[in-house]
Amino acid sequence: MHVSVTEAREMLSALLPALGTETVPVAQALGRTLAADLEARVSHPSATESALDGIAARETDTLSASAETPVRLRIAGESRAGVPFDGTVGAGECVRIYTGAPLPAGVDAICPVEELQDDGPEHVLLRRPAFPGDVRPEGGDFRAGEVVMRAGLRLSAPRVALAAALGHARVPVRRRMRVALLSTGDEVIEPGLPLKPGQVYDSNRVGLSAMLQESGCEVIELGHAPDSPASLQAALGAAGGANVLLTSGGVSMGRYDFMRDLLVEHGSVSFWKVRMRPGGPAILGGWNGLPVFGLPGNPVSSLVVFHVIVRPALTGQPVQSLKLRAATPFRGLKDKTAFWRGVIREGEVGDYGAQGSGILRSLSDADALVIVPEGGAVEVGEVVDVVLL
Ligand code: AMP
Ligand code: MG
Repeated sequence: MHVSVTEAREMLSALLPALGTETVPVAQALGRTLAADLEARVSHPSATESALDGIAARETDTLSASAETPVRLRIAGESRAGVPFDGTVGAGECVRIYTGAPLPAGVDAICPVEELQDDGPEHVLLRRPAFPGDVRPEGGDFRAGEVVMRAGLRLSAPRVALAAALGHARVPVRRRMRVALLSTGDEVIEPGLPLKPGQVYDSNRVGLSAMLQESGCEVIELGHAPDSPASLQAALGAAGGANVLLTSGGVSMGRYDFMRDLLVEHGSVSFWKVRMRPGGPAILGGWNGLPVFGLPGNPVSSLVVFHVIVRPALTGQPVQSLKLRAATPFRGLKDKTAFWRGVIREGEVGDYGAQGSGILRSLSDADALVIVPEGGAVEVGEVVDVVLL
């Protein structure tokens, strides 16, 4: 019953329905998964244009310009963004130009406004040559017809901006996974209520809901249920319409861990316990045909399990890891993969310190999860896999 992190992810994926696709306005696509390749409908820039405010000239006319020997050019006109200069610029001439304005015919370089000095109403002095590098060529970002974004990409904020720049008012995306969310525990209460000793505010439901929304899922809030088989059964029954139910708490070995008991006795269990820390007691099962993933109650455990198992399964997006050198040792565990909270300083990752699965600050303050494989241990200077938080 004790599965690896990879097996847990694969077993959850196998229970989830294949989602169809839909198109949504690009402004509402944040966090969604792109369902088809996106082509550029236009080129960007749409015309060769200036990257600076200044003058546009022929580079060859300006090569001798310096502070001591400025070059004098005649101003033939002006080109600004949206209102191009429609003539041709001749030898010894230039046009005033502004950022994003089309480059007129005849010129190939820009001299910035800081290097210019007016010389009467019709002439300007250049204190340095005009540079072709300050011209943005047409299509320098992307060309019309080019496939710029591939199906399967997660639409981050920069990618939503790119889709809009490509000319797409709507984008094809995978349908949202409908995820019902329930927290459990007699001691768990709503933030803001007076807290009696032994009680704890429901941070898991808030954190998991936020992570689900970030992941482009639709959240069906089932609220909170106390530790009793009857109220848990009622909550499970209310999850109809969801593609999957996520619960927090009640999946360990304790007398009041009824979530686990219910799945074992009246539902089904695909696995109980993952060989990982934090997060070991997670359970995957089913309830009347609904996949149920039971996350542990400990706040760090539930969010880490979400991060490395649930989110990749829900979104189809693999966990992104990168390699960093260890600034401190990291402990290994004989038969568990460890996800220690780490802080990144000067390109190296060090131990955050408090690694208890109830220390929520370790997640919010840390920069990354440091992955130490089963049986491994990490010495100072070794390269480790980390997942950015
Ligand atoms: P459990 O998995 O139910 O045994 O809970 C393990 C620990 O996590 C206990 O200290 C609980 O009080 C705490 N806990 C359970 N659920 C939540 C929650 N929703 N928010 C914050 N802490 C919780
Ligand atoms: Mg509990």
